[in-house]
Amino acid sequence: MVSIKGHHYTCPVCKASLTGPSRPLSTSVLKRRTDLKPITSHGPICGGIIFCGACGYAGFHTDFEEVSAHVITKVRQYLTKRAPAVQGEADKYIHAAKCAQWLGKPDHIIGELWLAASWYAGERSHRAGKLRNNAIFFFERGFMKSSIPTNKRSIFCYLTGELYRRNNDMLSARMWFTRVPDEVLNENQDKYIQLAQQQLTKPKEYIESTG
Ligand SMILES: [Zn+2]
Repeated sequence: MVSIKGHHYTCPVCKASLTGPSRPLSTSVLKRRTDLKPITSHGPICGGIIFCGACGYAGFHTDFEEVSAHVITKVRQYLTKRAPAVQGEADKYIHAAKCAQWLGKPDHIIGELWLAASWYAGERSHRAGKLRNNAIFFFERGFMKSSIPTNKRSIFCYLTGELYRRNNDMLSARMWFTRVPDEVLNENQDKYIQLAQQQLTKPKEYIESTG
């Protein structure tokens, strides 16, 4: 058992001193929900978001390096006044998603942060639905710009369908689910075809482990 010591970071926006994990916490994932939310023995942990309560900047440890003046301006303008009200993981992921956009990260990475925010927002809440919509927006833009890595297109295609399904938009869900076979690269990815078919016809809450 390795004990995780806090690592010191300097906020690249406001220079505040922060303590956070030096790398994402590694906990074993017991199972995943069909929107890929990981369930672990310690609750759902995606791990590793470091949040600066002084200015509202948030990101993974690799984001705590020098940032551009553009990022600093955006954080100051949009996040600093909201920072004191941040409570819990959903809020932190929302801040991280906005920062990721200003940092110029790929759309599917920004989408994943919105998705993670939705995992913490209470599954059936109106808020979770809005956060899923934001994730969908960035995943779809990633497909439009062909910026999603080829070997990840099938899973993001499935996931976009599943988020639409969870938002009760079955027409869009069907469109993305039925596109999954076209995005599959090799037989290792056939599971996403089956998953899409399952969620289209007899949706389940959790992905059944295949061992
Ligand atoms: Zn800061």
